Parts: sequence; C-alpha cells; structure tokens
Amino acid sequence: MPARPDKKAVAEVLEEIATLLALQGENVFKVRAYENAARALTRTREPLDELIRTGRLQSVRGIGSSTAKVIREYYETGEPPALLRELRAKTPPGLLELLEIPGLGPQRVRLLYEKLDIRTVADLEYALQENRLQLIEGFGPRTIETIRQGLELYRAASGRFLLGKVYPLARAIEAFFRQRWPGPVRLVGSVRRWCPVVGNVNLLLQGVPPSDPSGLGLDQAPVRLDVVEFQDPTWWLRVPSVGLPVVLTWVPAEDWPWAVRYYTGSREHNQAFQAWTTRQGYAWVGLRLQKDGVPLSLPSTGTADGVYGDEPIFERLGLAWLPPEVREGQDEIERAARGDVPRLIEPSDVRGVLHVHTHYSDGADSLQEIVETARDLGLEYVGISDHSPAAYYANGLDPDRLLHQWAEMEEVQRRIPEVRILRGMEVDILPDGRLDLDDDLLERLDFVVASVHSRFQMPRAEMTERIVRAMRHPCTTILGHPTGRLLLGRKGYEVDLDRILEVAAETGTLIEINANPYRLDLDWTHLERARRMGVRFSIDPDTHRKSDLGDYVYGVGIARKGWLTAADVANTRPVLELLELLRQKRRRRA
Ligand SMILES: [Zn+2]
Ligand SMILES: [Zn+2]
Repeated sequence: MPARPDKKAVAEVLEEIATLLALQGENVFKVRAYENAARALTRTREPLDELIRTGRLQSVRGIGSSTAKVIREYYETGEPPALLRELRAKTPPGLLELLEIPGLGPQRVRLLYEKLDIRTVADLEYALQENRLQLIEGFGPRTIETIRQGLELYRAASGRFLLGKVYPLARAIEAFFRQRWPGPVRLVGSVRRWCPVVGNVNLLLQGVPPSDPSGLGLDQAPVRLDVVEFQDPTWWLRVPSVGLPVVLTWVPAEDWPWAVRYYTGSREHNQAFQAWTTRQGYAWVGLRLQKDGVPLSLPSTGTADGVYGDEPIFERLGLAWLPPEVREGQDEIERAARGDVPRLIEPSDVRGVLHVHTHYSDGADSLQEIVETARDLGLEYVGISDHSPAAYYANGLDPDRLLHQWAEMEEVQRRIPEVRILRGMEVDILPDGRLDLDDDLLERLDFVVASVHSRFQMPRAEMTERIVRAMRHPCTTILGHPTGRLLLGRKGYEVDLDRILEVAAETGTLIEINANPYRLDLDWTHLERARRMGVRFSIDPDTHRKSDLGDYVYGVGIARKGWLTAADVANTRPVLELLELLRQKRRRRA
C-alpha cells in the first residue's frame, strides 16, 4: 500500500498546482481555488483520513469538487496527481527556479517570461544588466531594485546548503562508511563544526583508498552517491537528489591526528593555530609540526571510540582540547592556551522545549501528537506557542480559540502526565511595540514568545524601539528569532542589536536561539558577547510539525559555537525551576 500523504504534504501539492496554474496565466479564480483548498486543509482540525473515509472533504469550507478530486487522487495513490504532472510537463523548468528568487512570485515570473522571454536565472541576470526590466509595464524602479537584491541573495546562496538539510544525510553517510571501511572514519569540516550553512560533506578515512570506486559498494549507500572524480587520496562524490558534494579523503595512520585537526578547523582557525605554534618556536612540515628539526611525537594515535582523533596534538602542545564547533578563528587558541574551555552545553542537557506550533495556528499536528512526540524524545516539558491574531496569514488564535486550546491542554495533560505542557503563545510585536494580546490573557500564560512578523522594513531606530518596548512588557519571557533573518533567503531587519541585548539583560528577557534550520537566529557570532552582557537564552525548535521537534539539537550546535554552557540556557532547567525563572521577570516588574 502506498504511504498516505499527510495534510501538509497534500497542502504542498495543492500549492504547487496553484503556482503552476498562475505561471500558465490561468484565471485567478482557478488559482485561488487551489490556494484556498491548501489553506483550508491546513486549518481544519478534522483528520484527513476521517474526511476522506466519510466522503466529507467538500464539507470543509474552501474545498470544492475539483480540488477534492485532486486531494483524493493524491491521498489514494501517493503519487503526484495527473493535473500536477501535466502542469509540470508544460512549464519550462527554469521558471520554477526563478520563483526561488526572493521577491519573485508567479505573476512577475510569468510577465518576465511572456514579455522578455526570460526562462532562466541567467536570462534574468542578463536582462537586469541591460536594464530591460523597465520595458515591462508595471515594473517600476523599486520593483526592479527588489528583484536585483533578491537575485544577489540567490546567487550568494547557490552551492550552499542549510545545515539542517545536510546534517542527517552527513551522519547517515558517515555511518555507512564506518560500516564498510575497516579503519576509523570521521566527519570533519563545516558540517562537523555545525555551521548554519555548508557547502559539502567532508569525511576522513584512515588507510589507503581502494583502487577503484566499485570496491566500496556505493550502491548499498543509504542515499544515491555518484562518483564525480577520484584522484588518490581524494574522492569527490555527489548526492544527486540535492546536488550535495561529498568529499572523502584517505589518510595514512601515522598522519591521522594531524589530518583530523587540519580538516576540522576553518581556514581562519588553521591560520591562528599556525601563528600560535610558530610563536612557540615550532615549524610546519606539511600537516605536521617539528621543533629544532625534530618531528613532534604524539602520545597515542587516539582512534578509539568516543575520541575525536586530534586530542594528542592539543595534549602535546599543552592546549586544552577544543570542540570542533568553536574552531572558527575567533580567540579559541588563546582560550585553549589559558585552559579556559568550559564544558559546553550538550543535547542531553536540554530538559524541555518552548515555542512549538500546533494545528491551532500554522502547525501541521495536534496537541496530542506533539506531546506524544515530546514524550518519545524524553523531554520533561513542552511549551505550546501558537500565533496571536495579528498573524492572520498563519491562522493566529483569537481569545476564544486560545481558551479552547487551554481546555484541550488540560485534557491531553491528563492523558499524558509524564510531559508537563506549558501554556504559551507566540505573540506578535505590533509596529508600535505593543503585544498583540490583552494583558489579562498574557498574565495567564506560563510564557510568551514575542516576535516581529510584520513591517520588516522599519528604520533601524524605530525597529529597535519597537522591540525594546515589547521586551519591557513584564509578560514577555522570550524575544523570538531576534533578527528575523532567513538563512539563504532574507537578511535580518535593521536593528541595534547591542541595545536589544542590553535591555534583555536588564529586564531578564530570554533571548531565543531559534533552532529552526531556516533561522538559527540569534546568530552564533553574537552569543558570547550577549552572555558576557548578562543575557540568558532559550533554545527553541519553533517547529510546525511533530517530526521536527528534535530540531532543537541545531540550536544546541549553535549554542556550542557561541561557547554557551548548560547554565546559560533556561530550558536546561527542571520544569519547576524553569517556571520560577519565567515568573521572576513578572514579579520584578510588578
Ligand atoms: Zn515567529
Ligand atoms: Zn514560531
């Protein structure tokens, strides 16, 4: 039996049909029918199986007979519906790529195609260069500038991948080679350092590479791996489904610690390491160090389980070992020399998570499903925070629906007593800095994530004051995704971050480390500074489906890059301590 698509998957298919219809210039009512059906399906609380089984799809407002037919077809076959296949076939593939450029929607892409025959990103770039876009009626200077900036962002992003998309793949590929290869295998490079955006997956293997790729049984790999090139001692592979390069480098046993060290650090880290060792009177010969012509001997080769591999080098040089995440060329070598390397936060330190969406707003899953998943992950608590009314595009909750949700929380809590459900809301920070919910309701919440979701273009001073005002509200416990950036998509809004961190420390407002792989906001480069200013953090998954609840580990990776310890992060506390911490601010301001 084919796997049954869930609501989110069905909604995505409907949205794609709407997009392709719009690209074809279909009439706007037909396009909207599919958009509306997608939205209606996301919003309805009725389970999809139930609607299909009882033949009541069309009883959902927004789903008509033709959209219901497509939904049933997809649900029953698990295959893209005929309409979608047909639309895909007659749309030039480059147009879909153009849609990925920030600022370009179906209407604009269709105009570019019809009026200027722009079919690819390269066509667009050329046309921009030639100032041809102004030939299209309705494309004013501001529109053209938006497109130009969007294209720049898109270009900067090409060949770059979100860590959250690559990490599970990288670990699976590493596990595969560990199974196939008799010697040690280590993940190195930017993925091992938990960089938010990465270019490839790098693996080191100890030994001599097989003479030809068939010796590795790549056809058994968990994902398809194509060999692009092999040249002793390096193989370049590629995951064709996502275009991700995978680089395998073979290293002889005697070079192992040196190679692990070299391939793990960023270029800046390696330069700093080289400068430091040179100051200590060492000379470099390839990857290795020597002093007065004598090669540095290492205590052991360190390839046992639970050992990363380059510990002996640090030990021999009298440096504290540096976790890969911090090897970015900041001041880590000096810290290692001072022995100032604390035990950084680990995923297992996280006791529970806040900032989770359910199908009450724009999430895909029910309260019950979320809490069950939290239990399966071994979490002690889960904080539900659906959107407030101003976030109408995300189906924000009015007070009635919020009260309804609280009632359901009590029911689910009775059924699943092991996981404490915390009552929260992600409340919009309105343009003037007020919170989008009345105080009497705010006061009845365990926590409030205050976030900016509108008017991103505000001038810097105004945006800063807007956020500061929201943080001064006694009920604001967490500032959500503090800069609003979307990785590979949108720069954060203009804001005086130091001022915001200052007020966060002063008011006891937690700064969010939003662990959603598209955000990872606040960026790791600010964390250490914020911590020194007295700021405390909350690592929040900001998930919209239960399967992403474990994404908080990306937030932990980011926190480690910023040198944070468990003590710096609120949700490493047991639930009663956390609740006490959340209440402190309200009391302080009362
Ligand atoms: Zn948000
Ligand atoms: Zn959110």
